[in-house]
Parts: sequence; C-alpha cells; structure tokens
Amino acid sequence: MTDPGTPWDVAIVGGGNAALCAAIEAAEAGARVILLEAAPRHMRGGNSRHTRNFRCMHQGPLSVLTDTYGEDEYYDDLIRVTGGKTEPELARLAIRESESALPWMESHGVRFQPSLSGTLSLGRTNAFFLGGGKALVNAYYATVEDLGVTIRYEAKVAHVHIESGAFRWLELESGERIVARAVVLASGGFQADLDWLARAWGPAARNFLIRGTPWNRGEVLRDMLDQGAESVGDPTQCHAVAIDGRAPKFDGGIVTRLDCVPFSVVVNRDGARFHDEGQDVWPKRYAIWGRLVAAQPDQVAYAVIDAKARGLFMPSVFPPETADTVEELGTRLGIDGAHLAATVDAYNAACRPGTFHPTELDGVATEGLEPPKTNWARPIDTPPYYGYTLRPGVTFTYLGLKVSPRAQVQSGHGPLTNVWAAGEIMAGSILGQGYLAGFGMTIGTVFGRIAGQEAAAHAL
Ligand SMILES: Cc1cc2nc3c(=O)[nH]c(=O)nc-3n(C[C@H](O)[C@H](O)[C@H](O)COP(=O)(O)OP(=O)(O)OC[C@H]3O[C@@H](n4cnc5c(N)ncnc54)[C@H](O)[C@@H]3O)c2cc1C
Repeated sequence: MTDPGTPWDVAIVGGGNAALCAAIEAAEAGARVILLEAAPRHMRGGNSRHTRNFRCMHQGPLSVLTDTYGEDEYYDDLIRVTGGKTEPELARLAIRESESALPWMESHGVRFQPSLSGTLSLGRTNAFFLGGGKALVNAYYATVEDLGVTIRYEAKVAHVHIESGAFRWLELESGERIVARAVVLASGGFQADLDWLARAWGPAARNFLIRGTPWNRGEVLRDMLDQGAESVGDPTQCHAVAIDGRAPKFDGGIVTRLDCVPFSVVVNRDGARFHDEGQDVWPKRYAIWGRLVAAQPDQVAYAVIDAKARGLFMPSVFPPETADTVEELGTRLGIDGAHLAATVDAYNAACRPGTFHPTELDGVATEGLEPPKTNWARPIDTPPYYGYTLRPGVTFTYLGLKVSPRAQVQSGHGPLTNVWAAGEIMAGSILGQGYLAGFGMTIGTVFGRIAGQEAAAHAL
C-alpha cells in the first residue's frame, strides 16, 4: 500500500509503451517511481500490446534492419503522409533518437525479428518485435519490477491536480490521492470514449469500432485541457482503417484488418461503389479506407471478390460470406442482392484486358466507369463469390497535449513545472494528420525515455 504521507519522486499515469519507457528511465536514475495503470493486470499494456514494429533510423545495418534509413529519408516519408502537418523540431528529434532507442530496447528485454514478407514489406525501415507488442510490454513490466517500480493495476487516474503552474497530486477514481514531486502523463488518446468521438465526428462515430484498448478514454487529457494545458491537433484527426465488420467493439487488434480491397469491388449499403479500390498499393492506401467507410450511410461497406482473388491477400481471421451468385452473396451480406449484382455487372462490363500483377501497379483499369478502378480491375465472374463487411476501425486519436522537445507539458502561461507527457497523449504534436507505419511506438519510446529522465532529474 502507498503511504500518502511520503511523496513519490515520480508518478507515471498509464501502463503502455510510453509509460514503461518513462518508468525504466526514472527508476534507473534512482527515483522512487509509481506506475498507475487503469487496466487490470491481464489487460495491461494499452494499445502497445497490439503493435508489431517500430520505425527506426539507422546508418548501415542495425540489428534486424537492413541497409540504411537516414534522417532525411525518414523525415521526407513523414512529410509525405502528414502533408507537412508536423512540428519539425519534435519530428526530427523522434527520428534521430530512434537509432539509439533500438539497442536501448534490446538491453531492456525487447527481442526483434526480421520483417515478415506480405502486404507490408518493411525490412529496411521497421524493426519487428519478436512475439509482438505483448512480448515487448511483458519484457518492460519485468524490467520495471526488477528496478523496484511500484505498479498499481485498476488504478484509473481521474484528476491531475495542478496549482500555480505545478502538479501537486493525482486523484484516482476511487478517491485515493497519490502525491509525487513530478508526473509523466502517458495515458493514450481518447478513442475509446465514444461520446467524445461523437462530439467530434457526429453520431456516425457510434458505429466505429475501436481497434485497441477500451481504457484509453482520455480522462487525463480532458482534465489537463480543462485546467489550461495547451492542446495540439484536431479532434477529428485519427488513424482509422477499414476492418472486418464482425470485429469486437474494442480490442480486436491487428487480426481484424482486411487486405482484400485492391482485388475487390467495394459497395455501400445501397450496393453502390464510392471509391477507386485500385488507387495504389495497399500499404499506401489502407489508412484512407477507414475514413471512406466512415463517410458512407450507416458507416458500413461491403467488399466482394471472386474465386480468382482468394490467396492474393492475407487470410482473414473470420471466414468470408460465400455464395454461388453475386445476388445471393448480397442477400447473405444483408444488402439488396439485385443492386449488388447490377453494380458488379456494370463493373465487369467496364473491365478491359490487361496483364494482371497483384504486387505492383499493373494499370489494368476500367473504362467509362465512375468511380474508376485504376489497377487490378479484373472481372468478378468466377464462383464461388466471397464478401466481407467493412467498418471503420479507429486506432488512435491525435488531439493531445502540447509539449516541448524535453516532453514538458505547456500551458497558456508557459511550461508546467513538473509535468511531462509521452506517447499517444502528445503524438498530435508530430502527427497533424496521416500516419507512418511504426511511428507511434517511436514517438512513445523516444518521448517516454525523455519524460522519465526529466521527471527524475526534477524530483531528485
Ligand atoms: C491494433 C493496433 C496495432 C498497432 N500497431 C502498431 C505498430 O505496429 N507500430 C506502431 O508504432 N504503432 C502501432 N499502433 C499504435 C500504437 O499502439 C500506439 O502509438 C502506442 O502504443 C502508444 O503508446 P502509449 O504508451 O502512448 O499508449 P498505450 O499503449 O495505449 O497506453 C496507454 C495506457 O494508459 C492507460 N490509461 C488510460 N487512461 C488511464 C487513466 N485515466 N489512468 C491510468 N491509466 C490510464 C491504459 O490502460 C494504457 O495502459 C497500433 C495500434 C493498434 C490499436
């Protein structure tokens, strides 16, 4: 049990990657650290436990990473996906520090494996965690336990008490107070609070699925903003992908993603197509489909393929609906089969001969069809036919706390003396829009480490 009379040196709010990196650094600096995780022990680790890799700069081969991935190339990749909506100083810092982060991660229990081949071919840019994010999180929990960090599960922080520009204590949902000299906020985004999402997006948000933890509800973010902390990012910006409509409301993780879109015809509830399914290779386009589906009536869409397309994409975790005719497939999917069949007929009639290459832009396109399909446009004519329901799956939101390059939280009156933030809760400082695969874990690792070091230096 904690003794409320003895302040902790550093209190850490959250139990995912950013929180754990901060806890390790603070404890290694000699601080007495308490880590407060809202989830029960068996669900610890937030969204971090769903991850597979982090994006890492390197000069020459490094651990499992091949070749070189320099700062400027990495930064250019970020600028492309964010459309320039980033804070250059913080972005370059995250990129530069990622190189030393990898050996640091290894020395604290994380094991890496070479990139898997498949839809995401990232062997040069992204280091994959052996055993996935769950193994990473477990390794870090073992490390912080060895370092003597006190871990409290089911310890949801309801209030961060700020007075005269400084943090004084945390209040848990239970009413208990945790007093500390410094605090690191690493409690993620607000995507699991559907009411908040609905305020930002409108009622459509109630049909979104949340790919990660149900505990990232943004209580701490909202509490800080209410107390004058400066915000960054737009509440409607988030990372969202199209996932299997049968995925659970929360925590479905990566297995619910569907990679069939480039080889399919995608229709909405009314059986109508609404976007070019073959616009680009899937790793570059998969993140736009969350928003596209979100914009459709009832926030639902249906992807239809035929027997020729099976085996061309990562198998789905749930089997598709199957039928011998497109019309029957529509009925099985719960939409008007005749409308679906008419759409597929029109699409088939617009397909032109060409040499199909599933792994590259093959230019096999429709003619005279609106919207067009500009690659991989083969007729859907070989039974059996397969169909998947698609829903928007939110990964994480970007509205967050503004931080300095030393991860210190800013208010309208300057920095808050003893408050630092790391991970999703401040990622909007770097990700104004768009997403670069593997960058979430880079941001959490780099700023988690900085926040832990700074908080310990302040407290000791
Ligand atoms: C399915 C999926 C796959 C992903 N794959 C990748 C990938 O391969 N690579 C990558 O870089 N990124 C990936 N991401 C994004 C990545 O998960 C995040 O960017 C990263 O995990 C953020 O780390 P974090 O520590 O800030 O947040 P989290 O890991 O989500 O941790 C937040 C923690 O705060 C706790 N918490 C929340 N509220 C409170 C409160 N009030 N009091 C106390 N504790 C609280 C939560 O329980 C949780 O432990 C993926 C996300 C998902 C959902």
